Amino acid sequence: MSFDTPPSTGCREAPVLRERGQHEVFCGLTGIIWLHRKMQDAFFLVVGSRTCAHLLQSAAGVMIFAEPRFGTAILEETDLAGLADAQVELEREVGRLIARRPDIRQLFLVGSCPSEVIKLDLARAAEKLSVQHAPHVRVLNYSGSGIETTFTQGEDACLASMVPSLPETDARQLMLVGALPDVVEDQARDLLAQMGITDVAILPARRADDPLSVGPNTVFALLQPFLGDTLAALERRGARHLPAPFPFGAEGTTGWLRAVANEFGVDDATFERVTAAPRARATRAVAQAAESLSGKSIFFFPDSQLEIPLARFLTRECGMRAIEVGTPFLHKNILGPDLDLLEAGPQLTEGQDVERQLDRCRAAQPDLTVCGLGLANPLEAEGLATKWAIELVFTPVHFYEQAGDLAGLFSRPMRRRAALKLGAAS
Ligand code: SF4
Repeated sequence: MSFDTPPSTGCREAPVLRERGQHEVFCGLTGIIWLHRKMQDAFFLVVGSRTCAHLLQSAAGVMIFAEPRFGTAILEETDLAGLADAQVELEREVGRLIARRPDIRQLFLVGSCPSEVIKLDLARAAEKLSVQHAPHVRVLNYSGSGIETTFTQGEDACLASMVPSLPETDARQLMLVGALPDVVEDQARDLLAQMGITDVAILPARRADDPLSVGPNTVFALLQPFLGDTLAALERRGARHLPAPFPFGAEGTTGWLRAVANEFGVDDATFERVTAAPRARATRAVAQAAESLSGKSIFFFPDSQLEIPLARFLTRECGMRAIEVGTPFLHKNILGPDLDLLEAGPQLTEGQDVERQLDRCRAAQPDLTVCGLGLANPLEAEGLATKWAIELVFTPVHFYEQAGDLAGLFSRPMRRRAALKLGAAS
């Protein structure tokens, strides 16, 4: 199918199987790994247990930093039993940290399951500490807790926590929302600038002093599909959401840019002049990586919340066939344009009942299964090729120049499995 033509029947109105059973997901603390790289003068202090500290360490690949910008304030048993005043202790710890680290300009107190169980009031602590340490440090709080969440919700909660304190502006501006690697963000800015769109704010900003404000003349485009709470927070500040397909692959990137260009009155000739060459490069790169994907089937477990835009990319640009597309949440106001482009056929599911979904996956025997780390090893042992959903958030995959790499992330496990089979046969 040519991806210039939308399918006659998309998935916007397709029936959705809603499941409310056991989940197999990571908690929102995981987001700290990419957020601390993005916000260069921020510190993330998890208020949690040793389990939380271990999760962070293993997700970060046990990196040792000279000046780490995340850490865990460990709640001991005495705190959990209410024998110590954890609130006072936390405020003292933050005071010490800020005194020791003048480079910190934004401090996030990140809630966890244990801090929520003992009802530690991090919002009150953040407010108090912000007053104490203003104007040099702004202290905010959000929850990265694992109860009923997915790992990408940590970024959503973090960005949403920043919105209420953004300065007000009446300026007509575009805001891009989502933490992308700097190099990818620069590519997006450059494409927009070539079209004459230069008043561009980015949430999150790289540094606390970077200009970032919001108001009734702000129009925002999401860069990630998992930012529902941030969207709501921005709308509460009067900003307007620009629905668009997500910028994955040549088609998604073109659709996303087209939505922005239309909003800002960019004429067709300019749009074509700016996008033609990178779009052609992206199409070529995808075609190369997609050779081993064409005609193959794919099954998505709900995990990263990127599933629907990725299914759209893999079916329309790489020739794959989606059997089931599971997503933790299905917000049509965010995913509508991608659902319109995804040809009707795959089973859409929202939420998870992991055992039932495993049964469906085993029965379908897909060529590739996208799932969390916990499911990947057992499925591989059963002979299925898998792709870890979390890699899609750690790897630069947005916009034209990364489109080939995105397709490559899916073709590699298929080639590896084919090579293993060949090895076993010889
Ligand atoms: S926040 Fe909860 S789920 Fe996440 S590591 Fe800590 S205890 Fe585990």
